Amino acid sequence: MKYHEKITSNRKNIASDDDIPLEKWLVCYRNPVSKKHPGGSVFIRQFYAAGFYEAYDIVLTYAENMNIEVMWFREKRSCEPFLNYDVPELESLCTYCNKKFNDLEPMPCSHGGCNAEFCSRQCMENHLALRHKVREKSAHI
Ligand SMILES: [Zn+2]
Ligand SMILES: [Zn+2]
Repeated sequence: MKYHEKITSNRKNIASDDDIPLEKWLVCYRNPVSKKHPGGSVFIRQFYAAGFYEAYDIVLTYAENMNIEVMWFREKRSCEPFLNYDVPELESLCTYCNKKFNDLEPMPCSHGGCNAEFCSRQCMENHLALRHKVREKSAHI
C-alpha cells in the first residue's frame, strides 16, 4: 500500500511538472504499402498526450515503428466531425497475450457482456476457454 502510493505520487510529480493536462488526440496515418488497399490505406487512431510536443513525439515514434506516414494530428475536442465517433486506441493491448496490435478491427470477445479485445482468433479462443469456460465448438474430443 505504502509502496504503491509512493510510486503513484512520484509519477504524478513527473507528469505534472509543467501542469499540462492529459488531452485526447487524434492522428490520421497512411499506410502506403497496404495489401488490402492498392492506393494505400488511411486510418485514424486516438491517444492521450499532455500537450503538443508529447503528442508530436508519440505520433512520430509510432509512424517510424510502423513504417507509415502521418497525414495530420490534432486535439480531439477541436475535431468536430469526430467528437461522437468512437476511434480505436493507437495501441491496443491483446487481453490474452498482452501483445500490442493495431488492427483496424480488433477481435472482440464473443462472450456476452465481456469487453476484452484480442490480436487473433486464437487468443480469443484461449481466453474463452480460460475465463468463460467455453470450449471451441469445432473441437473434437
Ligand atoms: Zn493475443
Ligand atoms: Zn471474454
